[in-house]
Amino acid sequence: MKIIMLGAPGAGKGTQAKMIAEKYGIPHISTGDILRANIKNGTELGAKAKTYMDQGLLVPDDLIVDLVIDRFQSDDCKKGYILDGFPRTIPQAEALDQALAAIGENVDYAINVEVPDENIIRRMSGRRACVGCGATYHIVYNAPKEENKCDVCGGELILRDDDKPETVQKRLGVYHEQTQPLINYYDNKKILKEVDGTVDMKDVFAAICNILGE
Ligand code: ADP
Ligand code: ADP
Ligand code: ZN
Repeated sequence: MKIIMLGAPGAGKGTQAKMIAEKYGIPHISTGDILRANIKNGTELGAKAKTYMDQGLLVPDDLIVDLVIDRFQSDDCKKGYILDGFPRTIPQAEALDQALAAIGENVDYAINVEVPDENIIRRMSGRRACVGCGATYHIVYNAPKEENKCDVCGGELILRDDDKPETVQKRLGVYHEQTQPLINYYDNKKILKEVDGTVDMKDVFAAICNILGE
């Protein structure tokens, strides 16, 4: 099963992707997580990507496409995978389709998690990320057991630099301009599924499981 998560920054793609990955036993491939790991490890890619990420801009397609295509050809992806944060532009979607077609494969579902802009800023300002393992929390909707401490690894929880309101505003603009056109793209391919992302996370998950089946 090959799944793409679509939706605005903060719509809950990562939250849902983690739950789907666990239930269906397929890897969760998050380009945001991969880029942040590169920044943390001081790689050349990380240094290049950071200048764009800090401004709320997308990293150029050529820095990201090969990385993802390599990743899903590895052994743990044989049963399928879930892509979170990729593709984010039409050229990325086309590159993905081409790479899959070359090995006789295709994406099964593009799930769009719908959340209006008004809700996004509130979501992002409350999002906290673990510096240790990347787990995501929300100070109101998904609070850690102990304040500022990761339930999973005990790491410190921080507000991501790009989750500050000014940057979120910018990212939303970039989303509408460059990523939202993918909704039409996948609708035309008849694999688009839409879920209401404003309800409780477990209800969003139930709607997704309904689409994917047992
Ligand atoms: P969110 O979960 O809030 O949508 P991500 O963690 O997916 O954000 O991405 C953070 C940043 O990493 C993006 O704002 C962008 O700069 C960069 N990024 C992640 N994935 C991609 C991609 N597929 N193409 C270009 N840039 C990306
Ligand atoms: P994305 O990967 O789309 O950027 P996340 O999964 O990181 O989004 O979610 C953004 C923030 O909103 C996080 O703090 C997360 O805990 C919270 N969140 C996710 N889904 C919901 C939901 N259905 N209701 C309320 N808050 C949510
Ligand atoms: Zn952690």
